[in-house]
Parts: sequence; C-alpha cells; structure tokens
Amino acid sequence: MKTDELAKSQHIQYIKALDDKKDDYEYWLTEHLRLNGVYWGLTALCMLNAKNTFDKDKIIDFVRSCYDSSTGGFAAFPDHDAHLVTTLSGIQILATYDALNTLSEPEKLKTTEFIKSNQLADGSFQGDRFGEVDARFSYTALSSLSILGALTREVVDPAVEFIKKCYNFDGGFGLCPGAESHASMAFTCIGALAIVNRLGDLSSAQIDQIGWWLCERQVAEGGLNGRPSKLPDVCYSWWVLSALALIRKLEWIDFNGLRSFILKCQDIEKGGISDRPGNEVDVFHTIFGLAGLSLMGFDDLVSIDPAYCMPFSVTEKFKKYPY
Ligand SMILES: [Zn+2]
Repeated sequence: MKTDELAKSQHIQYIKALDDKKDDYEYWLTEHLRLNGVYWGLTALCMLNAKNTFDKDKIIDFVRSCYDSSTGGFAAFPDHDAHLVTTLSGIQILATYDALNTLSEPEKLKTTEFIKSNQLADGSFQGDRFGEVDARFSYTALSSLSILGALTREVVDPAVEFIKKCYNFDGGFGLCPGAESHASMAFTCIGALAIVNRLGDLSSAQIDQIGWWLCERQVAEGGLNGRPSKLPDVCYSWWVLSALALIRKLEWIDFNGLRSFILKCQDIEKGGISDRPGNEVDVFHTIFGLAGLSLMGFDDLVSIDPAYCMPFSVTEKFKKYPY
C-alpha cells in the first residue's frame, strides 16, 4: 500500500479491535474515557461507511449502563460520576443508532434537567457539580440539548452571551473570557453558536479575523497547530477545519498539504492515526484525522456535520433551533 492512500480497511480493523480488547489492562486504565471512546470509534466507523462494525445492541446496552438514574446524566463508565462531556457522548451514540427512544420520556426529562442545572448565572456551564467552567461545557450542553430537542431561550440567550465573551481581538477564542486563544475553542464556540443558530451575532469583521487566525494555524509541513509556534497535530484538522467550514472559509486552507500530513500519521499496517508522524496511534486522533479528510471531501468518506461532529445522515433528522 502506498503512503498517499488512506488505509481504510486497516482503520476499520483498528477500531474494531479496540472493542474486542476488554481483557487488556490498558482497556481498564482508560475507563474514565470509555463512553467518549465509543463515540469516537463509532463516528470514525460511520465516516468509513462501516457503522455496522460494532455490535449495536451491545453498545446501546453499554450506553444505558452509563446512565446515572440519580442525576439523569451519563458517566464515562457504570458507577462513575455523570459529567456534561460524557452525557453528550451518550446522547450522540444513541442518536447515531437512532435509539434515543431507548430512554423513557421521564429519563430524557431528567437528562435535560441535569444539563440545565449545570448552567451558571453568567450563562456559562460547569462540567459537573465540582464546578470547573470551560467553553467546552457550553458546547456539550447546547449540543446535547439540541439533539434532545430541548433548547429554550432561557438557556440559549445567556449561553450565547458567555460564548461571545470568549472571543479575543486576535480572532481566536479562549476557554473563558480573557483566556489565551486556542484552536479547540474555535470549534467549541463557533460550533455552539452554529447549533443555536446565532452565528449571525458575529460581525463580518470578526468572521474575517477568525478566518485569518484559523488559517494561520497551518504550518510548512501542511498540518495545523493549536496556537502560534506550536507543533502541528492531527486533531487540529478537526478543531480548525470545522470552525472554518461553519464560517464558510474552508478554502483558506491548503487541502493537499493537510491531507498529506494526516496520511503521514497513519499506521498503514495496523491502522489508526497518531497526532504526528511516527507517534503511537489512538482513536481520538483517528476520528479527528478522518473528520478533517471528510470535511475537505477527500477519500470518499461519509460527510460529517461540522457543528455536531456526527454524520449529516444523522444530524439532518434533528429539529433545528429556533423551533
Ligand atoms: Zn491532538
């Protein structure tokens, strides 16, 4: 196989093997990421047109077992604490399998209440009762509520005000007002605004500035970095490109340079994609490398929705806010 080809069947095998590795010590070490990991693997398989690789019933049972009936949120693993990030993963997996109806109406209502109960007076969200605040949690809350069809103005309006305060004059977004610009926050902030139909709150001068800041993330090797003078990393293919796609400036990136950087990060024998060439592969960089290629329209991958990071075939069924 040539290195300028996407090793599709190897990537499918790599992700499938992650699900078969349950007896490994390594598997148990990553318990705190388990539900997120299933979402990353499943979404990567969807892009590779191999959604049926996982055992659907087994995965749905696992997601259900992560539902915390005392709070209504989802945990990374049964009997762990529920968190907004893992709640979004649980909802995304069920939605991808068209299985949100495996949650009863009272259970769904409780999930909605759990998410809303983590919104603070300034419109921001904490990830859980321990109180860490980060624009990522604004994204996960708004995306989850959107998928559940449960967004309301009371939640959206203050959430948008907080997100807008995370914008910096350089054209980037920080994880909270005044924090340094970071490319992952461009996705969370712009993605959240897109989901609640409020991208129009950004002026065209701001959109241009955002576009410049994002396209300056591309380095000579073709890959993208998260901040000025940092090394390129495959996951920024998603954080940067999704935001550029949402503000319709995707073409400001050199597609061929980025594709060849992503392909150099593949393990072409065992499958999987790493953060940069020569490093160990993982499912996180595998999904975001594939998602970057999908957004650029390469390699016949199934199209991914830049706001939800799920296939359009799933997200087109969501009722879009405002209702
Ligand atoms: Zn990374």
